[in-house]
Amino acid sequence: MNTNELWQVVLGELELSLSKANFTTWFKNTFISEVDGQSIVIGVPNMFTKAWLEKKYTKDILRSLQGQTNNSLKRLSYRVEARPSNPQVILVGEQENVGFSGNTQAQPPSSPQGFAQPKQEMRSGEFSLNGKYAFHTFIVGKQNELAHAAAQAVSQQPGGVYNPLYIYGGVGLGKTHLLQAVGNELIKKNPNTKILYVTCERFTNDFISALRSGRIGEFKNRYRTVDVLLVDDIQFITGKEGTQEEFFHTFNQLYQNNKQIVISSDRPPKAIPALEDRLVSRFECGMLADVGSPDFETRVAILETKCREKTYQLEREILHHVANAVQTNVRELEGALNKVIAFHQFKNIRPTLETVKPILTSFQPASSRKNVTPKQLINTVALYFDVQIEDLLGKSRQKRLAFPRQIVMYLMREEMKSSYPSIGTELGGRDHTTAMHAYDKITRCLAEDEKLVHDLELIKQKLYMA
Ligand code: ADP
Ligand code: MG
Repeated sequence: MNTNELWQVVLGELELSLSKANFTTWFKNTFISEVDGQSIVIGVPNMFTKAWLEKKYTKDILRSLQGQTNNSLKRLSYRVEARPSNPQVILVGEQENVGFSGNTQAQPPSSPQGFAQPKQEMRSGEFSLNGKYAFHTFIVGKQNELAHAAAQAVSQQPGGVYNPLYIYGGVGLGKTHLLQAVGNELIKKNPNTKILYVTCERFTNDFISALRSGRIGEFKNRYRTVDVLLVDDIQFITGKEGTQEEFFHTFNQLYQNNKQIVISSDRPPKAIPALEDRLVSRFECGMLADVGSPDFETRVAILETKCREKTYQLEREILHHVANAVQTNVRELEGALNKVIAFHQFKNIRPTLETVKPILTSFQPASSRKNVTPKQLINTVALYFDVQIEDLLGKSRQKRLAFPRQIVMYLMREEMKSSYPSIGTELGGRDHTTAMHAYDKITRCLAEDEKLVHDLELIKQKLYMA
């Protein structure tokens, strides 16, 4: 990390805890001027800023700096100094990231020991998609069929009915894959389509660095003139007021011009803490689709496809064993398969169940929880709240039934990673939006109701211990 990258990270952290006005007022045109052993000097534009930062933010800045440098910095001071006119290009590290054009690779004000030399800016053209994420390599199962269908529809008719498309679900379940597949498909059809794939982090960093270097016009031009904007992991926008505001305007501009927006997140819009209401409502006005953990059949199908891609053969029995050993997410499933293949290729032996089993032990969950079925869960909750199972699954909306019902839905999602449509089905054929609502509601209740937290603990104990 060079000094500029370091400062960028610190600013990113500070932005989280400050209002937009405060942040821009006090941190605009600041930079790391010098690092000498354990001392660091921050360049600031005027005396007023110097006094203010000294008084109010020294602790926070130092803490953040120390966090990034293994506590190697002990002293922090400020110096009034003009920011060098050629700011160092901000590099976020990944090849996929496109830097700002037009920046020069000037040396930072100083290149103190302990920090790497500045890297060259990396550019990878107008878009940054990985061709391996295509629709034809994506295995469709119950848990992702809605998201898959919506993504395909979007790639057939961008800016059409599913705008924005918001895909959400846990890690390693194919969100990035789908976002990129949309981009790849559109490029295939028309190589001139302007597609921009960014992580939320990248958007934030771009924005901050644009602000800092006075290139906000360039930033806007870059983000607001695309045909398709794909934003991955939007949940990281939480708390970043300035970035949220900018994203709101970017969104509106694109939306009004019928440009397609696809967003991914680890949770529904409402469940992202400190996400502005106006963004929540924008995200909800298109299509929300969740991805859940793959069921056994899908896991086997995924393993078969990956084996074919790698032209490596594994017997059915072994595939089934791998599919049973890794249940939660596709990334881990792939990891397990790779491990199995690597091991046997390295030893140059043929895989058998006996040689495969020990390799997979590390993928078992630490607490090796018992597998529970939806039925067991429903029984346990019914027992706990002293209600009849038929009533729990029935139509009545009496509170004494509706609440335990919502708890079942919450636990199916949280503990069993079921998809919302399948939760709806298990609970007497309810709509998936009902399950989503229940999940959100219980999540909110848990934040403020300690008794409920305790109730759920007891239910889980009963469920897993019985
Ligand atoms: P997420 O973005 O949801 O965390 P990714 O899209 O990065 O997950 O997926 C993790 C890995 O699993 C990727 O290599 C992806 O290609 C693969 N993967 C996920 N879902 C599927 C699927 N349904 N079919 C095939 N591969 C999948
Ligand atoms: Mg992802």
